[in-house]
Amino acid sequence: MGDGMSTAEPAGPSAAEPVALGLPAVPGRPLAPRRVSRRLQVGSVAVGGDAPVSVQSMTTTVTADIGATLQQIAELTASGCQIVRVACPSQDDADALPVIAKKSQIPVIADIHFQPKYVFAAIDAGCAAVRVNPGNIRQFDDRVKEIAKAASGAGVPIRIGVNAGSLDKRLLEKYGKATPEALVESALWECSLFEEHGFRDIKISVKHNDPVVMVNAYRQLAARCDYPLHLGVTEAGPAFQGTIKSAVAFGALLSEGIGDTIRVSLSAPPVEEVKVGIQILESLNLRQRRLEIVSCPSCGRAQVDVYKLADQVTAGLEGMEVPLRVAVMGCVVNGPGEAREADLGVASGNGKGQIFVKGEVIKTVPESKIVETLIEEAMNIARRMEDEGVPSGTPDVTVS
Ligand code: SF4
Repeated sequence: MGDGMSTAEPAGPSAAEPVALGLPAVPGRPLAPRRVSRRLQVGSVAVGGDAPVSVQSMTTTVTADIGATLQQIAELTASGCQIVRVACPSQDDADALPVIAKKSQIPVIADIHFQPKYVFAAIDAGCAAVRVNPGNIRQFDDRVKEIAKAASGAGVPIRIGVNAGSLDKRLLEKYGKATPEALVESALWECSLFEEHGFRDIKISVKHNDPVVMVNAYRQLAARCDYPLHLGVTEAGPAFQGTIKSAVAFGALLSEGIGDTIRVSLSAPPVEEVKVGIQILESLNLRQRRLEIVSCPSCGRAQVDVYKLADQVTAGLEGMEVPLRVAVMGCVVNGPGEAREADLGVASGNGKGQIFVKGEVIKTVPESKIVETLIEEAMNIARRMEDEGVPSGTPDVTVS
């Protein structure tokens, strides 16, 4: 590439010279103002109103296995999950709820299908909220008055979680299938039953496995009520497909300001759902970005193994929570430009890497030293960001 790089003469200021880091301007502006929704409280987490969009997941353990469930909740909490849902299909599960609700560090929502009695058990157990699926709960409509009374007395919100796979039979007959209109009618009908009893601590989901149907359903719902909305593409599939479907659907809605809390559903460990959810919010500037790796796709001009380099840098900086943008670029075509825009970067070529910090080349190192140099500089920047009061957490930087 004839870049004239030299390990002997670093361009720009010497490594000893201070480089102005400044405070990163994150998050930037989101694509649209948030839809105005009612605010409610799920335990310690506010949902709706001007509360930040929260990330939820659901445990995959048998809820009655208290130890395993709490262990998974702890893992989810560590990954950034803010609200967790647990299934409650049996009396043993209901009996486990008081301990789980008490010991969990994040609010616990009990997920109730089929048996209304577990709604009351969950409220009594101290769960932060209860999710009901009206299409699945026997004679649910007849029990709304009692549920509203119990929930209201305990200050517990209810999620009306309509799901395409378990739509109320009456609406299935009326619409022929789970159309957006059918999902919305089901949800608003159930809301109206609660409203008759003066209960409005409600959030709604209208999930479908087809992102197009799902987006249309939430758009209609958003136009017809002010309840906070829980976004979800149900049964979205294995990790790759589910991530794409969720990102596309959530991206469409959140970019219009629709959505107050999200759950990515993946046929994968729930921690993966949280990672995807957080990344979606960060990408839309709905949450402060943390570590961001800007790496090029590589092409015929690359003179280093960009994939390997990007993987090694990503692994080496895992756990870093300061909002640091690191550019890993394969050559000098776009490399220096991207590296300059980032907090830290490398433009590689000819067996060497130019290391940039805040737009300045601080040194040029041999290819074999690129990863360790980037990690070392990232640590330095993180320390200086923390000294300057940039959030948050202590970077747990490991070299893989
Ligand atoms: S930075 Fe260079 S190697 Fe990477 S994609 Fe662009 S031109 Fe190709």
